Amino acid sequence: ADQRFDLVVIGAGAAGMMCAATAGQRGRRVLLLDHAPKLAEKIRISGGGRCNFTNRRVAAEHFLCRNPHFVRSALSRYTARDFIDLVERHGVSYHERDWGQLFCDDSAQQIIDLLRAECEDGAVQWAMPASVQAVERTSDEHDRFVIATTMGRFYAHSLVIATGGLSIPKIGASPFGYRIAEQFGIPVIAPRPALVPLTLPPETLSLLAPLAGASFEVEASCRGPAFREAALITHRGLSGPSILQASSYWQAQAYEKDDWAPVSLNLLPGIDAEEWLMAHASERGLLANLLSERLPRRFAHALCALQGWEKPVNAFRHADLRQIAATLADWQLVPSGTQGYAKAEVTLGGVDTNALSSKTMEARKQPGLFFAGEVMDVTGHLGGYNFQWAWSSGYAAGQHA
Ligand code: FAD
Repeated sequence: ADQRFDLVVIGAGAAGMMCAATAGQRGRRVLLLDHAPKLAEKIRISGGGRCNFTNRRVAAEHFLCRNPHFVRSALSRYTARDFIDLVERHGVSYHERDWGQLFCDDSAQQIIDLLRAECEDGAVQWAMPASVQAVERTSDEHDRFVIATTMGRFYAHSLVIATGGLSIPKIGASPFGYRIAEQFGIPVIAPRPALVPLTLPPETLSLLAPLAGASFEVEASCRGPAFREAALITHRGLSGPSILQASSYWQAQAYEKDDWAPVSLNLLPGIDAEEWLMAHASERGLLANLLSERLPRRFAHALCALQGWEKPVNAFRHADLRQIAATLADWQLVPSGTQGYAKAEVTLGGVDTNALSSKTMEARKQPGLFFAGEVMDVTGHLGGYNFQWAWSSGYAAGQHA
């Protein structure tokens, strides 16, 4: 039988559940629909199973978006503090790690349970697992959308698309949200994997791959902010938090230009490389041995082989040492690509925010059609920012849909 709702939310992930609970608690009759057999798998695997659910320091500069001010309104109406209060009300214990990142003490499942309980409080109804066959706008003023699914037809006054991005296809990611946007004439910025390990071309990889597993602190950047955290050498290239952060900017710069910018690594973060090298300029040992004081030994040797620096320190002219110092402070690598959506934590690009209201998440030219979460062109830094965007945008849509 056909069923009527004030609001149908497609995608029962982080943003969808937040939106449904918010709208339900305002007295709206809400249906939450998802095609996955298991609820919110992405939350369950997040943060290594402990869900980095937000960050103590949330500001617009922690997000990539073509429209840099877009995120401000929603982030200020539903803040990290608001979500922390919710977590505390549900008695979920948590702890803080570096850079203000907040994680559950026990399990990410607690965040799923919390959101489910909030949905129950709002008397949200569920259709799961259900696949959507078609979405159409009707000519009816109240039942503006009809959603044909494997569980029947649903009519809705408002429709929220919260189907996320493309990362980790094996747990249910799909391009559904982008298709709906296109169907309704809303531009989509080409999606790309982000917060993703980078691959290196064969010349560099042949020297680095044997060191897979080595990790050291760097300052990584790519035409954007620099991230001082660990880098990790892998069998295919580079990973680790600093590289994941820079990968989003590496992907973003490719929108602006056709050429691929190098990723820059400061291999000696926090020290003046030139001053340090000059202080050791008269040493008779190999440069690689000196570098081993500050970098993993095998990496120092591979780097010297790669750069042709296989000499004792005192065999370099001072001008050479200055050049070496410059390279150590700004080692430029052009990745050959990324490890793709199978390994990406998020998706850069998505529904163009210029077509949406930053206050309500409603499409400007499609009354009643809303978007929330990662399906939009909003990509957070690593550190709980992507969930905070899901909470803030889900709340905004739930308040207005
Ligand atoms: P999702 O949570 O992905 O939910 C989308 C939902 O839509 C899913 O339930 C999916 O089944 C459903 N769906 C998709 N297509 C359809 C369709 N066609 N029909 C019906 N339903 C559909 N971010 C953080 O802030 N902190 C972390 O610790 C963190 N860890 C992560 C770890 C991993 C391994 C990954 C992959 C991501 C992590 N993220 C983390 C990112 C974060 O999980 C996402 O940004 C966030 O889940 C986005 O929320 P969302 O609701 O927009 O999308």
